[in-house]
This record gives sequence, structure tokens and C-alpha cells, in this order.
Amino acid sequence: MTKDTAGRGRRTQAVHAGTRRSQWGEVSEAMFLTQGFVYDSAEAAEARFTSLGEDEFIYARYGNPTVRMFEDRLAALEGAEAGFATASGMAAVSGALTAMLKAGDHVVSARALFGSCLYVLEEVLGRFGVEVTFVDGTDLAQWEEAIRPDTRAVFFESVSNPGLEVVDIEAVSALAHAAGAMVIVDNVFATPVFSRAIEQGADLVVYSATKHIDGQGRGLGGAILGREEVIRGPVETYMKHTGGSLSPFNAWMMLKGLETLDLRVRAQTATAQHLAEALQGGGLERVIYPGLENHPQHALAMRQMGCGSTVLALDTGSREAAFRFLNALEIVVISNNLGDAKSIATHPASTTHSRLPDAQKATLGITPGLIRLSVGLEDPEDLLGDLQRGLAAI
Ligand SMILES: *Cc1c(COP(=O)(O)O)cnc(C)c1O
Repeated sequence: MTKDTAGRGRRTQAVHAGTRRSQWGEVSEAMFLTQGFVYDSAEAAEARFTSLGEDEFIYARYGNPTVRMFEDRLAALEGAEAGFATASGMAAVSGALTAMLKAGDHVVSARALFGSCLYVLEEVLGRFGVEVTFVDGTDLAQWEEAIRPDTRAVFFESVSNPGLEVVDIEAVSALAHAAGAMVIVDNVFATPVFSRAIEQGADLVVYSATKHIDGQGRGLGGAILGREEVIRGPVETYMKHTGGSLSPFNAWMMLKGLETLDLRVRAQTATAQHLAEALQGGGLERVIYPGLENHPQHALAMRQMGCGSTVLALDTGSREAAFRFLNALEIVVISNNLGDAKSIATHPASTTHSRLPDAQKATLGITPGLIRLSVGLEDPEDLLGDLQRGLAAI
């Protein structure tokens, strides 16, 4: 039994979309911890392998009822026709790219990327004969110049990790589509709640569900979303045969995470905005937050997401100041996840982006004093007090 939620609001979709009930009529979605499925006869097995019907499954690497519920619910929230759930955000990023590309193709990518995304674009694709041109994602003239008639895809994080540069999905998509290239957007920071990436022109949207979708730091997951013929076509074919599928247990966790995603990210964003405003001009070199008017892409962030979302970046001025700041915190934890209920501070230069040469760190805005702050669900005034403790230690 599936529930039709087409045309409903996002919070209704987040709670009900994609639900499939067994003959028992359970309220909470069932967790189908099974790799395989039993067939009534040899003929039935043959029939299922040769034409897989709706609500039919063969093997959990190909699909599973709990995983399908998560895929359908997330696709409904995103306004995408379909989704394929992956074992992690990086399985989604690398899967989307490798499923769609072949040797000889050309890709244009924004330069400011999460460390692992940069590895895939810079190292992996090149090894398989894909040429990648990197541009400043915020400069449309650079995109226009780099996109060529043989460009097969463009890739960018709609809000970059950790520099919080915002890329114009609509404008870059128009340039890419004019050249016949597809648009692949890593939309982690925008979250499915603030995202309208498909409507704005993205062909494939990828998420790390590990971040806001789980939202409670429990497990890894991801998803690739897009048109039915692309997802159930080349993306699913590639993913199911290469093995980056999401486990049913993690899919169940992410499915339940979606139910509260809207409430959580709106509360986290309200606190992030409050903290950004309160910290401005208070002893930091820079407070970087797309929700602040002084952010270079503030107007774009408002148009694209309607807010600054849940992460800010604070430049403390030096590595020593950043470490003193971090070591003085009593509530915010030092870690490297984001989107969690717990506020998390990261020093990218010495952790997530430590492998990059200093010159590259500088072009990406990863200064020695930069701290990425993922704002959680704690009381805003407790968090402000904690950050002021950090500032006092500088
Ligand atoms: C965390 C992250 C990823 C990778 O997700 P995992 O679930 O850790 O594999 C990809 N892109 C961005 C922007 C991220 O923040």
C-alpha cells in the first residue's frame, strides 16, 4: 500500500511521501533487513529478473523496500522524479559523475569543493581520461569561457564547503544547457528544505544524507536525484553493478530523519543567523555567512535558498587563534561532521583540507584561522556564550 502525496506541502511530504505499508498496516515504516527476496516458483524468479514490476525487488544492491521509501520521499521533497540512494555522500558524487561520463569527455567544475569531491574531480576522473577545467564558481564569465561544445557536464557545490561561496544554479545551468552539458549539483549545504535546484535547472542533485538528513550523527548515506529515465537508467545501472548502494538499516534511519528535517534545519538556520549577526564586528577577522548582507553572494543566497542555511565560517586570524578558540569551547564539539543536532566546529586547514598545498588552500579561502561552525539545536544563547568564551581565549 503506498500513499499518494503529490501536490502536498513539503512538511506533509516529509512525513508521508513514499510510505509503503505491508499487509500488517504498520504506522512507522518497516525496516526490511533482507538482502534477497523469495520467489514462488522458478518461473516467477525468471519473470522477476526479466521484467521487474513496481514494488518488486531482486537483491538489496539493486533495491529494497525500505531504501525505496527513502528514495521516493527524498525525491518528492526535492521535486525530482526519482532518486537512487547511495552508501555515502561520496558514493553519490562519484557515482553521478562516473555513471554519466566516459573517456574523452570534458567537465567544468567549481574550484571550491569539499576535500573528497576535489579528489574525485582532480584525481579520479583524469585517470579515466576525463578532462576537468576548474573555475571560480562565483564568476559567470569564467563558466562561460570554460564551457565548450564538447563539455558533457558541469559540477559544483551550490554552497561550497567550507568557504560558503554560493554558485548561481539558474545562471550556470543556462550556460551549460546552451552547450548541451548536464548540470550536477552537490546540494548538501542548501538541504532539501531550502533547495529548488531541479526547478532552477539542475539535472542531477546529489546529497550526503550523513549531514542534515540524518541530522543526529549516526550513519552514512547519500542520494542522487533527477529525471526518472536518468535515475532508473544509467545511474541505477551503474550504482547497482558497482556496489555503492545504501543499506536498508541506514535508509530507515534517513527516512525517519526526513520527517523532522524541516523543523530542524529551520531552527538551526534561525540560530545561525542570530549567531552570525551577534559575532559580527566582535573581535573576529571575518564572519562569513550567506545570510549576512556583507556576504558577496547574499542576494543570490536569498533568491536561491531564501536564507543562509545552517553553517557559518569564522576567520580568527591565525592557526594559533583558531586552536585557542576551539580549545576554549565547552558546548560546541570539535569534529568534522555538519548538519548535526550538536553544534560542531572544524578547523579545515588542519583536518578536512589538510592534504592541499598552502597555495591551493589560499585560493579556496581556507585561511589558517578559518573555523567552520555547523550550528546545531542547542539554545542560541548558550551557543553565543560558548563562542564568546572562544573569542575571549583568542
Ligand atoms: C560531507 C560532504 C560530502 C560527502 O558526504 P559523505 O556522506 O561524508 O560521503 C560531499 N559533499 C559535501 C559538500 C559535503 O559536505
